[in-house]
Amino acid sequence: MSSAATPLLYESHCHTPLCKHARGEPVEYAAAALARGFKGIIFTCHCPLPDGISHAVRMAPEEYETYVAAVAHAREQFAGRVDVRLGLESDFYPGVEPWLEELHARVPLHHVLGSVHTQVPDYRARYFRGNWFDYQQTYFEHLAQSAETGLFDTLAHPDLVKNEAPHEWIFSRIESHILRSLDRIAKTGVAMELNTSGVNKALPEMNPGDRMLGFIRERGIPIVIGADAHRPDRVGDGYAAALRRLETLGLLEVSYFLDRKRHSLSIADALASLPRAASLP
Ligand SMILES: [Zn+2]
Ligand SMILES: [Zn+2]
Repeated sequence: MSSAATPLLYESHCHTPLCKHARGEPVEYAAAALARGFKGIIFTCHCPLPDGISHAVRMAPEEYETYVAAVAHAREQFAGRVDVRLGLESDFYPGVEPWLEELHARVPLHHVLGSVHTQVPDYRARYFRGNWFDYQQTYFEHLAQSAETGLFDTLAHPDLVKNEAPHEWIFSRIESHILRSLDRIAKTGVAMELNTSGVNKALPEMNPGDRMLGFIRERGIPIVIGADAHRPDRVGDGYAAALRRLETLGLLEVSYFLDRKRHSLSIADALASLPRAASLP
C-alpha cells in the first residue's frame, strides 16, 4: 500500500491511576492509541460511589474533578493527533440509580459503560449467598436491570461473573437465564461490549464468550469493542482479533459512542484501518 491506513477506531474503554489499580497517565494512554493507529481514545475510569462503597478500586467522589481535568489535559496535548474524550465506567447495583443520574449530568460525557462488578466485596457481601449458580443468575438479572435504567450506553464485559468461579460456569445450566436477560436488553437499545481483557482473566476468553456473543448478534444488539486497559501498553489490545470474531459471526458493523450517541463502522474498514492487523493472528 502506498499510504498509511486512515485511523477510524476508538478505544472505548480504559482507565487512569485514580482508580488505584491502573498505572500510566492519560497522556501515555493517548500516545499508545496514536501509535496503534486509533483515531481516538475514550477514558472510562471507575466511577466514584457513595458511602465509601468499593472505595479501594475507584476515585473518591472529591476526585471527580481531577479526573475530568486529567482527561482534558490529555485532550489538549494530543489535539490534532488523537481524539481524546471523557467517559465513565459506572457500577450498577439496585439502588445506585439516583447517584449515577446526578454524576452523569455533572459534565458532558461521551461514553458511559455500565458494569455489574461481581468481584467487588460490597457487591458480593450483598448478593452472594454461597451458591455460584444463584450468583450467576443474580448477575444476569442485574445486567438486564442495568440496561433498563437508561443510564448506560454500553454494558461492559457482560459475562464477567464467569471469572468468579470458572469451574461453576456451565453454559447449558445458565443459558436460559442469559437468553432472558438478552431479550430484555435488546428491547432497550443499549449496546454490549466485547471486552478483550478477558483473555487475561481466570477463564481466559474475551467477555462475552462465543456462544453468548452469538446470542447477542442474533438479537441485533450493537457491539462496542473495548480493551479495558489498566496500563498504557494494553490500549487497543486484541482489537484485530475481536473484529475478526465479529466478522466470523457474520457481523458487518461495530459501534462506538461519542456525545453518548452511537456511531457504526464497517468491520472491513475497521480492520483495514489498523496498521498491523493483517499480520496479527
Ligand atoms: Zn478496573
Ligand atoms: Zn474497565
